[in-house]
Amino acid sequence: MPLSRRWFLAAAAASAASSVASRPAAAALPADVDVAIVGAGAAGIAAARKIAAAGRRFVILEAGERIGGRCFTDTGSFGVPFDRGARWLHMPDTNPVARLAPSAGLDIYPAPPGQKLRIGRRNAREGEMEEFLAARVRAQRAIVEAGRGKADIACAQALPKDLGDWRATIEFVLGPHDCGKDLRDISAFDFAKSAERDINAFCRQGFGTLLAKLCGTMPVERSTVVTRIDTSTRGRADIVTARGRLTARAVIVTASTGVLTSGKIRFNPEPKRQLDAAAKLSLGSYDRIALRLPGNPLRFFDDDLVFEKAAGAKTAALLGNVAGTDLCVVDVAGRFGRDLAAQGEAAMVAFATEWLTSLYGSDAARNIKGGLATRWHEEPFCLGAFSCASPGNQGARRALMEAFRDRVFFAGEAAHETLWGTVGGAWESGERAADAALKLFGSARPKAPAPAARRKKPVRENPSPPSER
Ligand SMILES: Cc1cc2nc3c(=O)[nH]c(=O)nc-3n(C[C@H](O)[C@H](O)[C@H](O)COP(=O)(O)OP(=O)(O)OC[C@H]3O[C@@H](n4cnc5c(N)ncnc54)[C@H](O)[C@@H]3O)c2cc1C
Repeated sequence: MPLSRRWFLAAAAASAASSVASRPAAAALPADVDVAIVGAGAAGIAAARKIAAAGRRFVILEAGERIGGRCFTDTGSFGVPFDRGARWLHMPDTNPVARLAPSAGLDIYPAPPGQKLRIGRRNAREGEMEEFLAARVRAQRAIVEAGRGKADIACAQALPKDLGDWRATIEFVLGPHDCGKDLRDISAFDFAKSAERDINAFCRQGFGTLLAKLCGTMPVERSTVVTRIDTSTRGRADIVTARGRLTARAVIVTASTGVLTSGKIRFNPEPKRQLDAAAKLSLGSYDRIALRLPGNPLRFFDDDLVFEKAAGAKTAALLGNVAGTDLCVVDVAGRFGRDLAAQGEAAMVAFATEWLTSLYGSDAARNIKGGLATRWHEEPFCLGAFSCASPGNQGARRALMEAFRDRVFFAGEAAHETLWGTVGGAWESGERAADAALKLFGSARPKAPAPAARRKKPVRENPSPPSER
């Protein structure tokens, strides 16, 4: 491997540093708000924008030191934008985040259509590509058909038997690559309900940069881990954080299903239905291994998406020359990706280097000038990539969306029936939760947005909810 251990440690340190935005001096938390939002990812930001527009007092409580959650652009490690999480803006014409991009002044451009396929060290011939695409369409149709049946099954059970030597590639593309899980772990109902994602765009400055712009100057309390949400007192929620307590009339919780089931946030009383639902929507595994290949030695076009004709589960997807830079990203996912990530960043970079060598020859390894890898399962306030219902459990998405005691609203990518696992889905779920929370205040808008009360202020506003469950 051409990477020295020293280089590797330096890159890892730079990556960590870049994810630490300078933190404002810790002022006291507001004592009392209309709406508290847990999490400054896509769902939290979308909810906050709606609540701000309605003139209500709110605060975003974010455990980490940066905003964006699983949609974050690292600009420090390579000097060019590297999206550690979300990168693809699916269906840009209808994607709520893509539609806001022009107002953020960022450059959105269409992703090249289709993909390339390597067979050993050569590109697939036209006929081979046609065979692959036809087999892929057949497999996808079979799963969607099963997803319309009476009883839910695993996607793997629905696959046609005669996929021949395309089976492993198709299993990777439809399972780990598209959903973060192996097909045997995915509900056919969930798969069938997910909306099409085959037209895409990219943000040249990074998807995370776009999200951060949309957050703007909204009040985000960083490094504020919410540890307890208590709704035992009528008409209010008492929120305990590592930096103090506050009271809210409504709470929007956008933590991932991994965090919800980890017990990091304690609830009193417990929203049993929603926590059971979160367990059925566990997070899959998806990680990016970013490599610098200066001078484009492998002759990629910009944003080339490449799969290989795989012989088994140990495979990956490549995005070459990301946004015209010398960054190439190898994505690993599903059970194989998770096991690889558990071995650490060095093992991941080594795998990507060997994989590229197997597809492009030893020149590939010689030309790699640095690399790093994400490990989303190790991020303490994400604990994985994105949700996917296990077989039999698609209905959990609706259960997660149910309001708890009229004042706790769960949002986030898992709380969307068709756009789960995407930034657009998280965004729409945040807006939905904000609409539900705003209903508690009636339609009248306050004359002027009041600043959130700080701790010293004795004012508290805790009107009773319309009904108690
Ligand atoms: C590698 C990878 C690639 C992806 N690729 C794409 C893609 O190309 N396109 C796409 O659309 N989507 C993609 N996704 C999915 C997308 O990133 C997510 O669906 C979306 O960002 C989730 O947003 P969210 O608001 O639901 O959750 P999050 O982004 O997880 O936000 C939740 C926030 O809550 C905070 N939090 C958690 N617990 C607490 C607590 N106790 N107290 C306070 N704060 C807390 C977290 O720190 C986090 O910031 C990808 C995800 C990954 C990991």
